[in-house]
Amino acid sequence: MKNIKEIFKKIVQIDSVSGEEKLMRDFIIYLLKNKKNYFYKVDKVGNLFIKNNKKNNKPLLFCAHLDTVEPGRKIKPQIKNGYFVSDGQTILGADNKAFVAVLIDILINQKIEKNIEIVFSVREETGGGIEFFPFRWLKSNKGIIFDNANPIGGIVLRSPKIINFYISFFGRSSHASLPKDGINSLIPMIKFIKNLPIGIYKKNTTINIGIINSGSAINTIPEKTVIKGEIRSYNENNFQVIKNKIIKKISLIKKNFLGKVELVFDGYCPGYNFQEKDFFVQEIKQIIIKNKIKPYFLNHSGISDANILNQKGIKTIVLSDGVIDPHTTREKIKVEDLYKLKELTIDFMSNL
Ligand SMILES: [Zn+2]
Repeated sequence: MKNIKEIFKKIVQIDSVSGEEKLMRDFIIYLLKNKKNYFYKVDKVGNLFIKNNKKNNKPLLFCAHLDTVEPGRKIKPQIKNGYFVSDGQTILGADNKAFVAVLIDILINQKIEKNIEIVFSVREETGGGIEFFPFRWLKSNKGIIFDNANPIGGIVLRSPKIINFYISFFGRSSHASLPKDGINSLIPMIKFIKNLPIGIYKKNTTINIGIINSGSAINTIPEKTVIKGEIRSYNENNFQVIKNKIIKKISLIKKNFLGKVELVFDGYCPGYNFQEKDFFVQEIKQIIIKNKIKPYFLNHSGISDANILNQKGIKTIVLSDGVIDPHTTREKIKVEDLYKLKELTIDFMSNL
């Protein structure tokens, strides 16, 4: 595998949907067999950590996720009009194997003089991967991730905090003709939703109720009602205000409801927020310019491994990777963009 095109083509054909990254990980370890300059370790959830033995500077971290979404099995990559595409039955897997291929190419074909660390993470798409990484293994305090589906040159400055909430109202069922015999679990749910600012709550914060399940038959008083929703915010204060509003509403409802109410918050993901003038951001921008690519700034409405890395104190910037329509069977990437990603990454490794 002498060039990135070959590497990319090869690794998208190694199935690695979330939770099943072993083959992909083993392949990278196999490639490192005769590379005396690199050390690797695998943590207990399967994240692969690689470092070189340079001691000359504080290392810089590069992180890429090995997993893909479904349909991500038996991918058949092909090149059409200058783009890598799948056969239309599956995703392509350029998210995030475009960057995985770049890092593999550099590991096996390039000489890197500076100190670097690499984490190939698992379960990025589903959660439960990088969170469990033993961060004491890392010496880096800065990192780079190419995992944003926009034209190359994009620098992600912000990503929201997210938390999910689950509320269950437990009543007692009875026949529709005898409502007094039952406890209707729907009534407190309606009280809860009333005056809740569903949709946009101030600038930078949204609240969504995505799922409501209630009742079991037309002629039965609903015994159980469940609501599932999320808060998503770029602003710590607004995030807390909404979270507290929910807690307060539920405790008020509990006082007047004869049944039981349960509120659970889960799946917390920390956000991050960088300024354009930030020194590391500016250094990255200059390198992008040097590579004759137009830099631009953007926000990330979703999350990535960078959210966790930033929370752990590793200043990690997400960059756009040129992938188009990820998580769909139309997913594609320009072949030429793989080379651009590689050049940029080498430049980051040499000059950041
Ligand atoms: Zn991704």
